[in-house]
Amino acid sequence: ASLEAGLPIKQVDAMIKRERDRYIQSNPVSRKLGEDARKNWVKGVPHHWMLDWSTPFPLFVADAKGTTLTDADGHTYDDFCLGDTGSMFGHSPEPVARAIAAQASHGLTYMLPTEDIIAVGAALERMFGLPFWQVATTATDANRFVLRWCRAITKRQKILVFHGCYHGAVDDTFVRLKDGRAIHRPGLIGQVYDLTANTKVVEFNDVPALQAALKDRDVACVITEPALTNIGMVLPQAGFLKALQQACRDTGTLLVIDETHTISTGYGGYTRTHGLKPDFLTLGKPVAGGLPCSVFGCTAEIAERMRAAEQEAGPGYSGMGTTLSANVLQFKAMRANLEEVMTPAAYAHMLPLSEKLARGIEAEITQRGLPWHVSNVGARAEFVCAPERPRNGSEAQDAMHGPVELAVHLYLLNRGLLIAPFHNMTLVSPATTPAQVDRLVATIGNCLDELAA
Ligand code: PMP
Repeated sequence: ASLEAGLPIKQVDAMIKRERDRYIQSNPVSRKLGEDARKNWVKGVPHHWMLDWSTPFPLFVADAKGTTLTDADGHTYDDFCLGDTGSMFGHSPEPVARAIAAQASHGLTYMLPTEDIIAVGAALERMFGLPFWQVATTATDANRFVLRWCRAITKRQKILVFHGCYHGAVDDTFVRLKDGRAIHRPGLIGQVYDLTANTKVVEFNDVPALQAALKDRDVACVITEPALTNIGMVLPQAGFLKALQQACRDTGTLLVIDETHTISTGYGGYTRTHGLKPDFLTLGKPVAGGLPCSVFGCTAEIAERMRAAEQEAGPGYSGMGTTLSANVLQFKAMRANLEEVMTPAAYAHMLPLSEKLARGIEAEITQRGLPWHVSNVGARAEFVCAPERPRNGSEAQDAMHGPVELAVHLYLLNRGLLIAPFHNMTLVSPATTPAQVDRLVATIGNCLDELAA
């Protein structure tokens, strides 16, 4: 029989059909809402990513708290997707919910600071070791503004990204490698100027290629996640991040670490856990407990160079800032989240539980002799339907098996388990219980049995 990722294709296709039918049967309310929504929403949803799930029509949500999500048909789910990291510390963590409720009738946005900025600035410095900060509304914006600062500071036009990266809807980063050349990311819409003119791209973990790309000293910054998490998961090989820092230092290139996903690593993210020394650090998604908010931090030296660049540019519009950024509601939520939710104690719960999850899925895979593996970065884990740990974006791309992943996603969802719709990512939150982890692991085992039968 022909196999896909070690499983009979016939079985995979049969499961997809079976599970689609089951979903349609069990979700009449979501189905009706989905039909009604087509009247006013392009493709039936207010944001097209809501169609990236495995389901024949969107699953409508009625409620969510902690790690439990309830759909419009009344089914409950153990949520390991957690809003694709936006709710990584649980849905509506109590301190954040309280802070938002307390502020709700006292103004939501003033374009003026409140005293909270003192405490939040101090909390960010404590957490990440960087003294100076700015607030934006999405991780996308934080990254976009940081790229602008890097170019202003260094007076260099180019940036460098790794193949398979994702840093949000940031034009400059939509570049990939194909046959050793930079191309536009496939599927890009409305792109009218050549992004490859100012963005270099090399493979992650490829030190010689990185050094060669930086040696002309025309790159303002390298922007990267410390482990790639948006193309499956690509872990840094021993010494790679050190070599990256050194190559940046040697060539006057700034280093931007995007911690938006790798904040899962531990308290203070990958940067603090592994002692990285970035010039800029960006973080969005869960930083205010799920309210739209992002931050970027930098060293004192960089802050000084920012001031000098601004002075040189003179008065006018910097090209950065959006009206609602740093509003009071974001600050109330962020303060509660940083001080009471994203704590070392929270990570002390999340990390061993995610380890248990990763090793549990690994055991299910090994028992069945499947050519798959599991990687995890702290509270984030990913099972990959290929035998070897990918060393770079190209290998990670090759390790993806759409139909198998679709079958597993649907099977889990129909049994009240949500994992991130993009690739096979799970997150463990402070509210996740060992019983929820056990159920996910056992259900994946059952799914693999049915697929192999
Ligand atoms: N950086 C990383 C590493 C991400 O994974 C993402 C989103 N997946 C972003 C930035 C962008 O976040 P947002 O869509 O909230 O702007």
